[in-house]
Amino acid sequence: MRYYLKTNQMSPFEGRQEYLMTKSICSSIIPSIDPFDEPECEAYDLFVNEFQCVGKGCPYSCVKRAPHAFSFSTENATACVISQGHSDDYLVQLAVGQCPRNCIHYVTPSQREVLEDLLQSALAAPYDIAEAALLDSLIAKARFENNRYQKPKRKPKVSTEYVDWV
Ligand code: SF4
Repeated sequence: MRYYLKTNQMSPFEGRQEYLMTKSICSSIIPSIDPFDEPECEAYDLFVNEFQCVGKGCPYSCVKRAPHAFSFSTENATACVISQGHSDDYLVQLAVGQCPRNCIHYVTPSQREVLEDLLQSALAAPYDIAEAALLDSLIAKARFENNRYQKPKRKPKVSTEYVDWV
């Protein structure tokens, strides 16, 4: 089951409504399905909160630091992620760590999907403070929960075969 319902045409308010609606439906079926409550894996995907990005005037530009992972959006002139899968990339880690606005985040794939949809609908309605506030609160929640994430422990191997020790 997909966590987040995508639509082809998003009104400025659909991102928030869909998130809240889907969260309430999912939590009534499977209480722990919200990836912001319970991350599904380690957070290695990149997400830029374009609301806070300085843009091309940034003195520590992630685009200059790691052009294979970041680029400036043609629509908003803010930084955006152009490729994922850089968990061990030192230049990308440097770019994330040196972002002067702390607006590049490591998130899980499910979290990224929700955040990207929310960002698009928030950018389409910049006057809607609630949309941007929800984005901020989900990012904060993701950061908190992702830091607490622990890989599931491997179960010890158990054999039922009879062993004659004598
Ligand atoms: S480092 Fe941060 S503020 Fe600077 S361009 Fe990249 S995302 Fe924007």
